[in-house]
Amino acid sequence: MAAYNPFETAQRQIDKCADILKLDPGTRAILRVPKRELHVAFPVRMDDGSMKLFQGFRVQYNDARGPAKGGIRFHPDETIDTVRALAAWMTWKCALLDLPLGGGKGGVICDVKSLSASELERVSRAYIQNVYQMIGPETDVPAPDVYTTPQIMAWMMDEYSKIMGKSQFGVITGKPLCIGGSRGRGDATARGGMYAIREAAKVLGIDLGKATVAIQGYGNAGNFAARLSKELFGCKVVAVSDSKGGVYSKGGLDPEAVFRCKEDTCSVVNLPGAKQITNDELLALNVDILIPAALENVITEKNAGKVKAKILAELANGPTTPEADDILYKNGVHVIPDFLCNAGGVTVSYFEMVQNAMMYCWEEKEVYERLEARMVSAYSSVLSTSQQYKINMRQAAYVRAVERVVEAMKLRGWV
Ligand code: GLU
Repeated sequence: MAAYNPFETAQRQIDKCADILKLDPGTRAILRVPKRELHVAFPVRMDDGSMKLFQGFRVQYNDARGPAKGGIRFHPDETIDTVRALAAWMTWKCALLDLPLGGGKGGVICDVKSLSASELERVSRAYIQNVYQMIGPETDVPAPDVYTTPQIMAWMMDEYSKIMGKSQFGVITGKPLCIGGSRGRGDATARGGMYAIREAAKVLGIDLGKATVAIQGYGNAGNFAARLSKELFGCKVVAVSDSKGGVYSKGGLDPEAVFRCKEDTCSVVNLPGAKQITNDELLALNVDILIPAALENVITEKNAGKVKAKILAELANGPTTPEADDILYKNGVHVIPDFLCNAGGVTVSYFEMVQNAMMYCWEEKEVYERLEARMVSAYSSVLSTSQQYKINMRQAAYVRAVERVVEAMKLRGWV
C-alpha cells in the first residue's frame, strides 16, 4: 500500500469546499497548491567530528490575508507533502480565527531524540542560515510545532538577528518569555481547544464536571490538554498515550504524575498503577471526549467506526482522513476540526507578534480573554455554517475560512 500522503487529504478537503462554494477554476487552482516553497540541504557538524547532511523545507501556502505563519516541525518522517499539507491547514486556520495572516510551515528531517543539545542547536541555526531569505517579521513568521521548543525558537531568533545585525524578535513566535515571548503561549494550543470543547459540550448538553477524556499523544498539546481539562472543568482523564503505547485508569490519571513519568522514562506507558493499553484501544474507549494530540492519519476508515466518544477534539493537525470523516458524521460524533480546535497556538502567536511590534507585554489575563473571545466566535461561526449548509463541522470550517481567503484574493486582484 502506498504511504499515506497528507497533502492529498488537504487537496481533497479543498476540492470538496470548492464544490460547496462553487468556486471558479482559477480560484480553485490557486487554493490547491502552495505559492512558494524552498527545499534545502545543509551539513551540520556532529559531536563526534563527522559532518551530517540534513534536509529541510519552508512552504508559504497562501499569503493573501497577510504574512505566512506556521510552525517548524523536526521529525524523522517529515516529507515535503506533509509540510505542504500543514501549510495549507495554517492558511485556513489563520483565516478562520480572522488573524491578519496567511499560512506557512517548515520542517527538518531529523530525529531530535538522537541529537545532543549542542547538535540540536547547530541544526536549528543551520536551518535558519539556509531559509533566512524567505522568512521575516513581515513575510513569514515561523513558530514551534512537533518536537520544536521555545529554546529552539530562541536559537533561531538569535541566528536570524545575527544575520540581520539587530534583534529581530518578530521573526519567530513561541519564544521564551524574557526574549520576546508571550504570556500564555506555552499552553495556548490546549487552552484554545478547551474553550472549543466547552462550547461543544454546551451544544450537546454534556456536563464537563462528569465527563471522561482520553488523549492520544503526550507532547505539548496532549500534556496541557490533560492538565487543563481537569483544572478548568474537573474532567476525568482516564487514558493517555504516546508513540510507545498508552495507559488507562477507570478512576482517572493524575496529569502531573503522567508528565513526570514521561520525563523520567521517555514514555507514559511506565506509569505505575495504571493498566497498559494500545493506541488503537485508546481511540475506541467509551469516553465523552477523545483528543488526538499527536500526528496526522490516526483516525481512518479502519477505526472511525469504533470511536464511541461524543466529542472528537482534534488538537493534532490532520488526525482524521476524509473517509473517516464521513463515518464519524454518520455516527453522530461531534468533531471539532483541527484548524479550529488547535488554533489557540497560532492565535497566541499572533498576539506575540503584536506585542513584539509594540515592544509591550500583556498580562496573562489579557491573553486568555482575547484567546477565549476568538475561539468562542470561531466555534460558533463554524457551528452555524454547518447547520446552515447541512455539512459536517470540518466542511463548515473550510467554508468559513476559504470564503475569507477568496475575498482577500479578489480584493487584491488575484482572481
Ligand atoms: N504549530 C502550531 C500550529 O500548527 C502553531 C503555529 C504558530 O504558532 O504559528 O498551529
